[in-house]
Amino acid sequence: MALRTLDSLGSLAGKRVIVRADFNVPLKEGVITDDGRIRAALPTLNHLINQGARVIACSHLGRPDGAPDAKYSLAPVAQRLSELLGTPVAFARDTVGDSARDAVAALEDGDVAVIENLRFNPGETAKDVGERRAFAEQLAALGDALVSDGFGVVHRKQASVYELAELLPSAAGFLIEKEVDVLDRLTENPERPYAVVLGGSKVSDKLGVIEHLLPRADKILVGGGMMFTFLAAQGHKVGKSLLEADQIDTVKGYISAAAEKGVELILPVDAVMASGFAADADHVVAAADALEDTPFGADGMGLDIGPETAKIFADAIRGSKTVFWNGPMGVFEMPAFAAGTKAIAQALTEVDGLSVVGGGDSAAAVRQLGFEDDRFGHISTGGGASLEFLEGKKLPGLEILGWEA
Ligand code: ADP
Ligand code: MG
Repeated sequence: MALRTLDSLGSLAGKRVIVRADFNVPLKEGVITDDGRIRAALPTLNHLINQGARVIACSHLGRPDGAPDAKYSLAPVAQRLSELLGTPVAFARDTVGDSARDAVAALEDGDVAVIENLRFNPGETAKDVGERRAFAEQLAALGDALVSDGFGVVHRKQASVYELAELLPSAAGFLIEKEVDVLDRLTENPERPYAVVLGGSKVSDKLGVIEHLLPRADKILVGGGMMFTFLAAQGHKVGKSLLEADQIDTVKGYISAAAEKGVELILPVDAVMASGFAADADHVVAAADALEDTPFGADGMGLDIGPETAKIFADAIRGSKTVFWNGPMGVFEMPAFAAGTKAIAQALTEVDGLSVVGGGDSAAAVRQLGFEDDRFGHISTGGGASLEFLEGKKLPGLEILGWEA
């Protein structure tokens, strides 16, 4: 069955519509440092406002312990949402209490209210289905329909994501619809050649993705911290670089599986070796088979792919019709080790086809390095959710909306 989309709910004029969004934005001393997730919810919210629905937006923020915690209040989100929508947004000081009921009762057609952080209620993330259902019933009493649009949480069986969707007429919003559409194109019939670019800190985080995409991709490019486990599997010394020794055998398996299937596995030919893990560390470029032949010897740490690798990767990316990239190529947070990530991001913007960036740090990296979102085909808003989708796992928050993987 296909995902139920907004039109399946019919006219929502005058109806109370709960929108389960993902407003889990980064905050620094109460100030939102990246409002990307709020912006991602705007198409659905604007559509509902224009239809004359009475919109009740809700989300989690951070990990409060099932109780109110001022540090995780959604108040700054309601404020920012009001600025972005250009319309007043009411804010309820609780999730399903008097304040929420009053805010909903005061809504007129086309109005928007935000209720407080769902995780202030222990029922939201409870392991016990009865507790989740009890909270979902309280939420359901606030609305006539549910639009589920928090893609970042669809891999979680939580009250507002799963049980609430059982209780009210429910459908996916535009964000979830787009995420599913794009990620599905990466697993079913991608336009070829299809390149998968993987980096980030740990191989062990990405095993499922590698396994699921290996038979589907034409080229797999490996950089980031995980490259050193691949280089070690090829017999190279890697100094003090990130290495998951217990994954070397698994990685050897991937190397031979790729060869058997005719998938081109492109590994780095050079790396930036540093004297230590610091922004101002001394650093030099070394060939992949000579990573310890630098002034730092066996104490050197690889913190980025080298320039030759960046060039090879960029060429492979530009020559593809579909590209999925997850995981920074180096420690992009430090300018001295951001060049590889920047070169790969640039190449993705030049793809004549579909380019997709997935993963929380990868999305942060492209923005921090100054690339506008619209230069990519799609930047997934869900780190864990997008990876689990690409691993071929069943995601409860999508299944309850009619989706079958
Ligand atoms: P994502 O969130 O996009 O899935 P990950 O969480 O897997 O990405 O990895 C991101 C982190 O990987 C970044 O903080 C980056 O600094 C780190 N990283 C990348 N390359 C290296 C490296 N060579 N050594 C250590 N850390 C690295
Ligand atoms: Mg991450």
